[in-house]
Amino acid sequence: MIYLDNHSTTQVDKRVLKKMIPYFTEKFNNPHSQITIHNQDIIFQISEARNKIAKLIGAEKEEIIFTSGATESNNLAIKGLKGHILRGKNHFISLNTEHKCVLEALRKLEFEGAKVTILKVKKNGLIDADEVYKNIKKNTLLVSIMMANNETGVIQPIKKIAKICKDKNVLFHTDAAQAVGKIDINVKKMNIDMMSISAHKFYGPKGVGALYIRRFPRIRLSPLIDGGGQEVNLRSGTLPVPLCIGLGEAAKISMLTLKKEKIKISVLRDYLYKGLKTKIKNISINGDTKNRLPANLNISIPGINSELLIKSLKNTVISSGSACTSSSVESSYVLSAMGLPKKKIDSSIRIGIGRFTTKSDINHAIKDITQTVGKLRVNG
Ligand SMILES: *Cc1c(COP(=O)(O)O)cnc(C)c1O
Repeated sequence: MIYLDNHSTTQVDKRVLKKMIPYFTEKFNNPHSQITIHNQDIIFQISEARNKIAKLIGAEKEEIIFTSGATESNNLAIKGLKGHILRGKNHFISLNTEHKCVLEALRKLEFEGAKVTILKVKKNGLIDADEVYKNIKKNTLLVSIMMANNETGVIQPIKKIAKICKDKNVLFHTDAAQAVGKIDINVKKMNIDMMSISAHKFYGPKGVGALYIRRFPRIRLSPLIDGGGQEVNLRSGTLPVPLCIGLGEAAKISMLTLKKEKIKISVLRDYLYKGLKTKIKNISINGDTKNRLPANLNISIPGINSELLIKSLKNTVISSGSACTSSSVESSYVLSAMGLPKKKIDSSIRIGIGRFTTKSDINHAIKDITQTVGKLRVNG
């Protein structure tokens, strides 16, 4: 298998797994019980994991809340503000290319009386910070704009937008599931108030994530899950210790490798694009080519149905869009939101290079994709 679908999920790094394993078996004690010699290492490791995540994004460990993933983090950041709506500030701003969990969480809040403005991205998938500025009102509570898109990989001007929000006294949240561990992030320098993280997007395990919540001045959030009061009352339930430790280890590894990995991956991505372009006529890139994740390539291949292409590939795993919607063969709402014509959308593929991709993988993928496109064109 040549795995080039790293935006949908990534393989757990073996170093991450190794760190996790003891915490399933011999070190299984409850981290929330009274401290004994049996669980003190577990408590320490959880704290260390928090530390590593915080370090990667320029935060403090007290600002990291463990969740089940970016879906939950996004829901907590948005729905957690429910109490504020009742107290007056009730306007939310977001983007039409956001992940479904952001858009659906906002839709739920609309039923509770929130006013929601969904901004439209430009043809290149980006939003101008100025557009956000113009839409902020007196009663705007939160702006939620993703850092990097999961389909096109475009990187929004988060620093500019967050600064505007700070100046206007509006909270700023970003879904950084695709960005953490892939590009440099510093929540303090970037004025980010809340940020969602998912472990399985950067070589950690599935089922765990985090929400960074700025500590000062305090942001009042109501929990989605009530109970024993874990995670400073924001997310009750026993922590999934091995998963939390895995997320921490993934963060530590990214911290050490980010700089080199960015370059290595973008070189492979450009090599892949070049290879495809010389062999397949008229392919074009969707989304801004400059402000984009190093790993991402989203291209249209005219005359090809992408669903058919993906199914017909022998060894190469790629996709046509977000994992959660592609089972229902619904065409990409992200590309549609960018104003791409249906024909172009239905011929688009998303490729995501990863940590474990080699040049030989890329050569195989070029061959596989080129040959399959050739066959489909003859048969079609
Ligand atoms: C994957 C992803 C999510 C969902 O993350 P989970 O941890 O799988 O819940 C949310 N937003 C973006 C941009 C993603 O890529």
